[in-house]
Amino acid sequence: MEFNDYNVTRDLERKNLNLNPLQRGGVLPRESREALHDFGDGYSVCDYCSGRLDEIAKPSICGFLEDLSKFLNVDHVRTTHGARESKFTVMHSICQPGDVIVVDGNAHYTTHLAAERAGLEIIEVPNSGYPEFRIDMDIYETTLKNAIDEYGEIKLAVLTHVDGDYGNLTDANTFGNFCNKLGVPSLLNCAYSMGRLPIDAKSWNIDFVVGSGHKSMAASGPIGVLGMKDEWADILLKRSPRHIKKEVEMLGCTSRGAPIATLMASFPHVVNRVKNWNEEVKLSRLFVSKLEKIEGIFQIGIKPTEHDLVRFDTPILNEISKFHPRKGFFLYEELKSRNIAGIKRGQTEWFKCSTYGMSKEQRDYIADAFLEIVEKNGQLK
Ligand SMILES: *Cc1c(COP(=O)(O)O)cnc(C)c1O
Repeated sequence: MEFNDYNVTRDLERKNLNLNPLQRGGVLPRESREALHDFGDGYSVCDYCSGRLDEIAKPSICGFLEDLSKFLNVDHVRTTHGARESKFTVMHSICQPGDVIVVDGNAHYTTHLAAERAGLEIIEVPNSGYPEFRIDMDIYETTLKNAIDEYGEIKLAVLTHVDGDYGNLTDANTFGNFCNKLGVPSLLNCAYSMGRLPIDAKSWNIDFVVGSGHKSMAASGPIGVLGMKDEWADILLKRSPRHIKKEVEMLGCTSRGAPIATLMASFPHVVNRVKNWNEEVKLSRLFVSKLEKIEGIFQIGIKPTEHDLVRFDTPILNEISKFHPRKGFFLYEELKSRNIAGIKRGQTEWFKCSTYGMSKEQRDYIADAFLEIVEKNGQLK
């Protein structure tokens, strides 16, 4: 029998500056690369397990979850296989098929799929449209009140803390407060925030927070985080009558092996970087203002940006693609020749990118590269 060569090699991060926002927050620090290597030996966190993943003492998963719950200010926390699984777990355990939930208009597709899988109907809170695409909390509250009037009971309200299209940061505290007042359980999707910026669930009055290890917590993943207030523990963490130690909604055990080992190994690094979030935002704004000096490139979404994920409309790049011999591929190729990666191939009308974790010099290098590319190719016309 002959097999194909699967080509499982990768040197993108080693050789380039990667602007793909999906990947920036999941880069492993050195200590986690070691953990990744060491825990590549099978069912490798289970040597000292006596039936509950979250109670394993070596490596100290139990100690880690305790620290993680303090870090997020929640009463209980579990790991899952991803932010999407965390959302599904909440929806599946506190809602019934046919129930109605309210979701913001910038929600990730996985919020919709989790709801569909749980058999739920979605009411959407519209965003403000071009160019800000803001989720306004007054509009959210009004939509939620109207939904309660119409359907009697709303089982869950979901807010995307930072969305993956515009990098808009929403007002979690206001959201938590009005949900609480209206008696609707609240879920904050922190896939793009937990591990980047501080999360303070209980002081924001939020019932559930979900995070993504591979998106924003420097873990190899796939791994998610699910934090909750104590009042939900009986439902979310109920035990199997047959397998008395096992939590049903977690299917007994969730993410094990390298995903959790790297999440744990990265935790001190993550705790530290979150303290520098303001500096990150400052550098991100500086990067935006440098790019916006180029005529025909401007940021959309809330300004000034409050996140490292930023989206630009780029009519000048689209203009160039019309007469460039390489058409829409010129941008990708020009960037590649400067060791800059992560902008989709062939796309010139707009792009989103992140410079999270890069030095000021690296960000300047990238902004200068864009300027150079526009100046050089703009003359072709
Ligand atoms: C990436 C992303 C997700 C999905 O995260 P997983 O951990 O891969 O499930 C969910 N929500 C938002 C806003 C995201 O950006």
